[in-house]
Amino acid sequence: MINFNVPPCADKAMEYIQECVRNQKICGDGAYTKKCSRWIEEKTGTAKCLLTTSCTHATELAALLLPDIKAGDEVIMPAFTFVSTADAFVLRGAVPVFVDIRPDTMNMDEKLVEAAVTERTKAIVPVHYAGVSCEMDTIMEVADRHGLAVVEDAAQGIMSTYKGRALGTFGNFGCFSFHETKNYSMGEGGALLIRDEKDVEEAEIIREKGTNRSKFYRGQIDKYTWINYGSSYLPSDMNAAYLYAQLEIAEEINEARLEIWNRYYERLQPLAEAGKLDLPVVPENCVHNGHMFYVKAADIEVRTALIDHLKEKGIKAVFHYIPLHTAPAGQKFGRFHGEDKYTTRESERLMRLPMYYGLTLAQVDEICDSVKDFFG
Ligand SMILES: *Cc1c(COP(=O)(O)O)cnc(C)c1O
Repeated sequence: MINFNVPPCADKAMEYIQECVRNQKICGDGAYTKKCSRWIEEKTGTAKCLLTTSCTHATELAALLLPDIKAGDEVIMPAFTFVSTADAFVLRGAVPVFVDIRPDTMNMDEKLVEAAVTERTKAIVPVHYAGVSCEMDTIMEVADRHGLAVVEDAAQGIMSTYKGRALGTFGNFGCFSFHETKNYSMGEGGALLIRDEKDVEEAEIIREKGTNRSKFYRGQIDKYTWINYGSSYLPSDMNAAYLYAQLEIAEEINEARLEIWNRYYERLQPLAEAGKLDLPVVPENCVHNGHMFYVKAADIEVRTALIDHLKEKGIKAVFHYIPLHTAPAGQKFGRFHGEDKYTTRESERLMRLPMYYGLTLAQVDEICDSVKDFFG
């Protein structure tokens, strides 16, 4: 049996969690939360990183930080994404305006963004699918030209770069996920990356229930008080301890994932050359993080049969996403701008093969052999 995912765990995790328990330091913003935030700041070059309870919450926090987003305002995003990308803005009454994806990277087609801008547009939300960057130069140019904010859904994008710069650091805000299905995990968790110093104070306040408690803890004020709306987006330091153990070996984990990814690519290339499958495309300016290995079958029938075939061999492969504009909430809250040329068609062909830290190359070969037998 080969699982689709096994949550990453580093050897030091137990030791670090025990330290939190022993020291009775288990609430938010403890020593491990600070270590994780500092690590992410140094690794990505962002002005500030705040650890959160999820990427969904990081995106919600970003939506709360955008100046005066109101009911009826519009936010441009792809429909081929996880629900959280839209939820954060829908909670504020905004309308997700979905644009089509590129069939090569499955990312929002940057050339379609500008035509979807209206006078109600407030933000663009690129999603870096599979840890492969969107075409950020074009997206940032459109945003600048129209005075729009950019919130990057970089849930899958930690350790990836575009033209040498870390994903999550281009937009006003970037959001990482540390869910157990991601490259680095704390069970449930995420991070908000803040590009501009000017946004840091407000972000700290909203993340701390609308209070200036962060300043109080730093000794910058002698009592804290309620000064804005907010919520509670702080993870427990025990979760951060679990994550930090992985961040310490981040390069090792990244290299192991890339080795798996490259092995899949190499072993499945003959099938791609024979026209049986399409393999992922990584544009030249992008360095990815081996987050996911997907293939695209000819159509949904072939995909279903292939998933069933692998299941019989004890291999768990999965597909996602049901495009948001076709889901009940997507129809209620959002709209698709332009033609759905690729979003539905490509999403129905895509399937993900097992990918996790600890998957062996022998297992990858076994999976590739099973895919090959399917095509005979
Ligand atoms: C995983 C994921 C999320 C949600 O992350 P959570 O940490 O589970 O909230 C959002 N967007 C994308 C693209 C994701 O892959």
